[in-house]
Amino acid sequence: MSIAIYVTFLRREEADLSKQQVATRKRSKRKKNVISARIKLAFVLGVLITVLGAILPVGFAAHQQLMSQTLVSPILLGTGLEQLNTVASQALHQQSVEISKALNGLIPQQFQGKTVSQVPLNTGRKVIALTFDDGPWPEFTNEILYILKHHHVKATFFVIGRNVRNFPERTKQMYLHGHALGNHTWSHPYHQHSEGQAAGQIDNTTQWIEQATGGVKSRLFRPPGGFLNNGLAAYAAKQGQTVVMWSVDSKDYYAPAPRIIENVLSQAKPGAIVLLHDGGGDRRPTIVALPTIITKLREQGYEFVTVPELLDLKAQETQTASGG
Ligand SMILES: [Zn+2]
Repeated sequence: MSIAIYVTFLRREEADLSKQQVATRKRSKRKKNVISARIKLAFVLGVLITVLGAILPVGFAAHQQLMSQTLVSPILLGTGLEQLNTVASQALHQQSVEISKALNGLIPQQFQGKTVSQVPLNTGRKVIALTFDDGPWPEFTNEILYILKHHHVKATFFVIGRNVRNFPERTKQMYLHGHALGNHTWSHPYHQHSEGQAAGQIDNTTQWIEQATGGVKSRLFRPPGGFLNNGLAAYAAKQGQTVVMWSVDSKDYYAPAPRIIENVLSQAKPGAIVLLHDGGGDRRPTIVALPTIITKLREQGYEFVTVPELLDLKAQETQTASGG
């Protein structure tokens, strides 16, 4: 073998060697890449598990708390009398329920055919009327009734006729608990109505309320969406009903519970009428907000009255002022 051939051989060897080195380096780089990808994956998984571990128990606890606050057994509801302990308090409660019931179909003459959104008394007496629309509703009306009973509050329910037909027992419960009932049309429409169409919406509902409660002739009307110009309010007023709007909008149809509380407390005034809902959607925020609303308003010295009671107090005041 000549020197030249030997040198060529050596160079080839060298080249092969460096090729091998490159391959080895590539392999180890690939290995490193695989390892670093695994480390990254492990890291991401670790972070995910930590974050989920932190969020899930909180979310679960919040959910549990909400459910324990909202799921009230209908068995607890009764007529509102059996849980009162003494004979005297039972008698007093029975009396207030009877007064509320008696006022249900009675509206003072000065308010017949009129529209009200708040009724402040001359004395400045801190009365306030909570009103609940769009029920009765299977999931939520019972819970609202339970909270009101627990806090000894009488309210006014503006019911939807077809809901009354579907859930007559819940409508009867409203009445038996001493709450006032108002008409909120048969199917909650917003469009323009002829007199005949308005009669269909309103008179049907009045009849179903009367049937479900065993005799309440509701004389209060609340127009769906608060629309006063689509023929419905005009028809109700023509029949001598009182059109009841509101002065405090809780916005519970979209706001979360803390916002609902804030909306009511910031707008509350003596003689105010507060708009809330027991039907028509998920009313858990209302149910969560209601006990705080009641407690805080009471702390501020408010008394809760039904809309007929509020109108009656005003009428008495007017009579006294005019010496009648
Ligand atoms: Zn409504």
